[in-house]
Amino acid sequence: MKTVIVTGSTSGIGLGIAEAFALNGFNVMLNGLGDETEIEATRARLAGLGAGDVGFSGANMLEPEQIAELVKTTESQFGAVDVIVPNAGIQHVEKIEDFPIGKWDAIMAINLTSAFHLIRAAMPGMKERNFGRIISIASAHGLVASPYKSAYVAAKHGMLGLIKTVALEAAEHGVTANAICPGYVETPLVAGQIADTAKARDMSEEAVISEVILKAQPTKQFVQVGQIAALALYLASDQAAQITGTALPIDGGWTAQ
Ligand code: NAD
Repeated sequence: MKTVIVTGSTSGIGLGIAEAFALNGFNVMLNGLGDETEIEATRARLAGLGAGDVGFSGANMLEPEQIAELVKTTESQFGAVDVIVPNAGIQHVEKIEDFPIGKWDAIMAINLTSAFHLIRAAMPGMKERNFGRIISIASAHGLVASPYKSAYVAAKHGMLGLIKTVALEAAEHGVTANAICPGYVETPLVAGQIADTAKARDMSEEAVISEVILKAQPTKQFVQVGQIAALALYLASDQAAQITGTALPIDGGWTAQ
């Protein structure tokens, strides 16, 4: 039985990915912030979905030692870490001259540097077992930019560089590294962004959804969490062994423009 760590899996895309892996018989280590009782209810619900077990670690993605500990704890609880999904992320929308320095630092730390620490800690075990799948959740903003998202766009572009480098280093060890680049998905992160963009551009939230958000996506539809989870499951499979070092858009055609 294989084991996956999904960072930021108490909400949104990470939770959907954790559910899909649990349903498909993986042991799952959940991670993220949130209310303890709600997290325990989620953990118990996911544990009932498949044959695998489900654990939770509250490791803060701002803290390198806690990220290394997350890998150690998972290895001792489940025996190995086969798949990692660096997914935790935050957003802040503001013009560059007003962009809070603390927000820049936090976005870099959570959206990019935490993936480095997670990969760094999990790689020795993956190489030893000659199997590993690193599936980072980047963004269409890893491929193209939008105004007012300097830190997020920089971090997501950086994530693609990290993934390509790791893919090359690990290529002869049965370890693949890929980045999924979703377009807009309706999650709490995007709800906050809609409100912030409305403020930054002096527009109503309805106008932001139709004129900013879905305008970027030719299909005019949000991407669904389950669609991203299905791609992550495929990348974790043996059939995906020759897919490595890629950035895979799942964005309704956004980055084709
Ligand atoms: P979300 O806000 O629903 O979930 C974010 C998760 O990260 C939560 O579980 C939260 O607890 C966790 N998290 C935040 N800070 C943390 C910290 N310091 N330590 C540990 N966990 C922390 O957001 P989402 O939309 O599901 O986003 C997940 C990922 O997908 C992010 O990397 C985001 O950039 C990316 N993404 C989202 C969209 C979208 O449209 N929603 C599009 C492209 C990429």
